[in-house]
Amino acid sequence: MSPMQISTTPSSAPVSDERLAEILANPGFGQHFTDHMFTVEWTPDAGWHAARIEPYGPLTLDPATAVLHYAQETFEGMKAYRHDDGSIWSFRPEENAARMARSSHRLAFPVLEIDDFLQAVDALVEIDQRWVPDPAGEKSLYLRPFMIATEKFLGVRPSQHVTFMVIASPAGAYFKGGVKPVTLWLTEEYTRAGRGGMGAAKTGGNYASSLVAQQEATAQGCDQVVFLDAQEGRYVEELGGMNMYFVHDDGTIVTPETGTILEGITRSSIIELAGKLGHQVEERKFSIDEWREGVTSGRITEIFACGTAAVVTPVGELRWEGGSAPAPRSDDLTMRLRQALVDIQYGRAEDTFGWMHRIT
Ligand SMILES: *Cc1c(COP(=O)(O)O)cnc(C)c1O
Repeated sequence: MSPMQISTTPSSAPVSDERLAEILANPGFGQHFTDHMFTVEWTPDAGWHAARIEPYGPLTLDPATAVLHYAQETFEGMKAYRHDDGSIWSFRPEENAARMARSSHRLAFPVLEIDDFLQAVDALVEIDQRWVPDPAGEKSLYLRPFMIATEKFLGVRPSQHVTFMVIASPAGAYFKGGVKPVTLWLTEEYTRAGRGGMGAAKTGGNYASSLVAQQEATAQGCDQVVFLDAQEGRYVEELGGMNMYFVHDDGTIVTPETGTILEGITRSSIIELAGKLGHQVEERKFSIDEWREGVTSGRITEIFACGTAAVVTPVGELRWEGGSAPAPRSDDLTMRLRQALVDIQYGRAEDTFGWMHRIT
């Protein structure tokens, strides 16, 4: 396949170096956006066309645009990391591209070729490379590729006009002042994904359906919500946007597999890393009773959640309506796995898995 032709219109008003330094000193998350954005469009007749990088700015959408009504949308979340020598890298980007292709299939979108996805992301990072923060304090440039239904049409069928874009936003450390365990709220009322539903796709609708449960968690003084399977309300699925792991006293690690969770790239990387450290990793159904009994008896020694934004975060207490289960006693392996992953991402440890992709 020949590479996609990308036309470039550089911004005539890029953020000043002075202002950029201010932003990068304290980027927060998802608040500031780089000078440019990438766009490519699709129609049945022309296929993917009009690939371009242009100044970052608002979109003009007709009020009847399909995505606004029926939520035909998919997205990805990934990061660009600056290494100490100044070079810029992404982490397993082909996995994001492949997952977006799977999500796109579920949302009845055309598939964007893996190479085109990679080229789009690399091109945006390259033109906005001054926005990739220095590595100190686990800063990075968060990348948000997304696909939306842009046909002006209120009928219900797959959109005949589709837009894929990439935007980028500098991100600070997820944990300010050190990694600390998150307290979880177990929702027994809401679920995020049912059999045959969209749980395995990265799509905004899954997040929309998680918000009310997250709101409940916050009202209960918890950091995050944990969802159970929709069918039996018995098996742990995941948090709103992070996968889960349970470390046992014999060294075995269990991560839920139900067919309706989102298969995180951090999740699969942890499986490989833990395996290399000599741990047996089981992907299987894991019941909420196993959790409660395990932390009480001490058989479960650590629990953690993982995703691109937070990398790996220890899990503390679990609460539900009328009860709670204590925090596991340790976070030893959790922190070792976290460090191992972060060291690879920032180029401080040898990339024996071949996970890193150099952008510039
Ligand atoms: C993105 C996401 C994750 C984590 O995936 P990573 O590839 O590790 O960032 C987990 N759960 C949900 C629902 C997600 O959308």
